[in-house]
Amino acid sequence: MIINKIKELSIKNPNLVAYIINNQSITYEELYKKIIYYGELLKRQNSKNIIIYGHKEIETLYSILACIYAKRTYIPIDKSIPLERIKNIINQIDDKLIISNKKINNIETTTLEELEKFKNNDIIDVKNNICYIIFTSGSTGIPKGVPITYDNLNNFVNWLCNSEYLKKYSNINVLNQANFNFDLSVCDIFYSLYTGNTLVGLEHTSYTDLEYIYNTIKNNNITFMVNTPTFVRMCLLEPLFNQNELPNLKCILFCGEVLDVSLARKLYERFPNITIINAYGPTEATCFVCMTEILRSDLENSILPVGDINTSCTDIKLENGQIILSGKSVFNGYLNIDSTNYTKINNINYFNTHDLGYIKNNRLYCTGRDDSQIKINGYRIELQEIEAVIEKLEYIDDSVVLAKKQDNKVKYIKVFVTTNKNITNDII
Ligand code: AMP
Repeated sequence: MIINKIKELSIKNPNLVAYIINNQSITYEELYKKIIYYGELLKRQNSKNIIIYGHKEIETLYSILACIYAKRTYIPIDKSIPLERIKNIINQIDDKLIISNKKINNIETTTLEELEKFKNNDIIDVKNNICYIIFTSGSTGIPKGVPITYDNLNNFVNWLCNSEYLKKYSNINVLNQANFNFDLSVCDIFYSLYTGNTLVGLEHTSYTDLEYIYNTIKNNNITFMVNTPTFVRMCLLEPLFNQNELPNLKCILFCGEVLDVSLARKLYERFPNITIINAYGPTEATCFVCMTEILRSDLENSILPVGDINTSCTDIKLENGQIILSGKSVFNGYLNIDSTNYTKINNINYFNTHDLGYIKNNRLYCTGRDDSQIKINGYRIELQEIEAVIEKLEYIDDSVVLAKKQDNKVKYIKVFVTTNKNITNDII
């Protein structure tokens, strides 16, 4: 679906820039050529799973799209991830090829240029319905793989691009904040490319560099941003982040963690005409499953809605206060592990998010969780994962990790450990 759209755009609007990262850019025509070129090579090698190691380089983007074209599963690994975690992810994937323009420790990798060696092979048709696997925090201390099918993705992209909230924008520049291994990026990448807009990447290493962030938004005339509340809270530290200085900025879509009333209020003060959208959903149900516009009247309440129930991307139900998702967006279970959160009944996938909520006036509200999963800067962390890692340390017998929250947000984490060794200063 997405590749056909890029093909159409490459004919209709060949010189339109599809993607910009820092001073480099690629047009729709160039992008389509790269997808076909590398996609055809990928079709001629026999691995089903393609790990793409890198950051937001133009090559990373077309490698992802080439995998989709070749019906191979892509697994994005951002270079900011610690080596041990990278190894954990790589070990969980079988039947794989790792594309990287540099060595990852002593792990064997292939550069895009080296794919040339498959040029004269026949096409190998691997039976595969998984589009990508994104890894999230796992309670055992090992990252948990979430496989998303082509059907899941197509369902999401179709819903997103035809939503009343986003349909109205055209010829715009869209900011990509999230790394490609974080499922929030699925929203901006596929929205922007599917609707023929220009995607502008923001380097992860510069997240704390307010001047770089501000200049990227201003110099690229960004109209639509997709990000976590933490990111916008940081942007607001820059006084120039306001409507007078950034008149093109029309819409901000939030997802990934709680959007609190005070942040939405500050945003309206700085940008009186902005459209604020709050979206909700887990990686397991393909990026997000519902969204709603935050109106000024919503600011009178203590909690903001996270989505319109009537126009959601997939079915949303509440059972004993828990938010249960089912239908076309929901994945088919984790990679290599069983979980009671996921079930299949009459061929329909169900996912228990363990988020708690309620519905009022056809809008969903999220009030917190019934387990110990937390969010830090939009990143999902199971407290048991931290415990599992701590317990691997020498001298530690047992540990308990607790998150102290205020207004549904984590303020700090407390770690308690036991040891039956004599702890001396030189150990500490
Ligand atoms: P992830 O899979 O990393 O996207 O995390 C999904 C989880 O993030 C959800 O199950 C919620 O706990 C939380 N979440 C996502 N969006 C929102 C939102 N708009 N408001 C509150 N919590 C959210």
